[in-house]
Amino acid sequence: MDKAATDVREYNLDPDSELRFEVEFAATATVKLLNGTAEIFGVELAPGNAYHFSGKKIAVFTWHGCSIELSGECSVEYTANETPMDSYLNLHLALEQMRVIASQQGENGPRVLILGPHDVGKTSLCKILLNYALRQGRRPVHVSLDCSEGSFTMPGTITATSINNIIDVEEGFGSTATTAASMGSTIMPLAYYYGYQNPAENLPLYKLLISKLAQGVKARSAIDDEARVGGQIIDTTGLIDQVGYDIIQHAIAQFSVNVVVVLGHERLYSDMTRILRDKPEISVVKVAKSGGVVERDQQFRTQLQRSKIQEYFYGTAKYELSPYSTLTNFSDVSIWRVGESSLAPTSALPIGMDRQMSETQLVKIDNADILLHSILAVLNADEKDTETTALESNVAGFIYISDVDDGKQKLTVLSPAPGKLLKKHLLMGSFKWMET
Ligand code: ADP
Repeated sequence: MDKAATDVREYNLDPDSELRFEVEFAATATVKLLNGTAEIFGVELAPGNAYHFSGKKIAVFTWHGCSIELSGECSVEYTANETPMDSYLNLHLALEQMRVIASQQGENGPRVLILGPHDVGKTSLCKILLNYALRQGRRPVHVSLDCSEGSFTMPGTITATSINNIIDVEEGFGSTATTAASMGSTIMPLAYYYGYQNPAENLPLYKLLISKLAQGVKARSAIDDEARVGGQIIDTTGLIDQVGYDIIQHAIAQFSVNVVVVLGHERLYSDMTRILRDKPEISVVKVAKSGGVVERDQQFRTQLQRSKIQEYFYGTAKYELSPYSTLTNFSDVSIWRVGESSLAPTSALPIGMDRQMSETQLVKIDNADILLHSILAVLNADEKDTETTALESNVAGFIYISDVDDGKQKLTVLSPAPGKLLKKHLLMGSFKWMET
């Protein structure tokens, strides 16, 4: 397809087929449903409404046939008659059956772990399953253990979010937090800040935070019937090496997972059936990868992370935010990093501390210099909290250090909400950002 095609194209889609297109970050494409019914990752399109996309790879799927209009600049654009949507719908129906039983018997709904390598459509399948559940009046919880993307908040974060609104077609998951913030709400998903893109970077910390997140989700399910019955759809990182298997088993145990879905990977499926054969209460199912899933290179991922950060502070074209810039004394806050000493040899660690402990230990930052252009998580911890309890605190929000005055020991802080967000304990990870 011509890269610069900006004219209006009309597509007539047969039942069970989809239109796939990709839009660069600098371009915009617009979709309009003219006739029939269609959905994007499980969200039904409203007829006649114009949906705009930038920096996205999209499939408009139809169960019963439709005609759609596409305009704007797409780098890729084609229709496909073969999709795995039938199997995704069947999976949803099986999960729905489990919810019906859970509701009748006062038990927990399905806890579903979505597994597969990078770029097989895990996040897309999560969206489809969540939207289908929502369309049936359920309120499932979306758990994202994918710290490279930071579905709802910031890269480096793992989250649990109760889905009670249809996911925004144009913005994907990003909008939920942004919309909440733009309406002056401080509602955030339950989030823990890990601070790195790769779970292998500090595995003990990553696993500790998964445990905390699972505790939070279970506590919520215990007091909220709809969340309990809705269950959880858990998105994962795509790591399927030894570290990945360790994480998978940890997540299964912590979230009491009872459905493991393997997307498009035979060996992973067979390993999971073998590893879980002593646990008949856990079903392992495999589903096909969609031919439309697009591989994203590191450049696209970095761009995605940057746009997530930008979106957190400034909102999107649809929901603009005006962040606040303030000056803060470096001495008024405690800024931490995790596991600094893990770089030191074991013999150099304080007596009585092993490497595992040091990797989940907070180390105070005493030099304001290194904070320049850093993203910091504002921890839900106060003055009384110790280093250990602060580390295990969830995240209230994020701030950005746009400038450091070393002489005066002052920080210029960008925050999406005035004042409210600046608490005592701040956590730094590896993410830096430059405002554009
Ligand atoms: P994973 O979570 O396994 O890394 P994603 O679900 O994020 O994979 O999919 C990778 C990319 O492919 C995403 O940009 C997504 O929007 C796109 N994608 C997924 N399914 C389709 C499809 N059927 N048609 C077009 N693009 C798709």
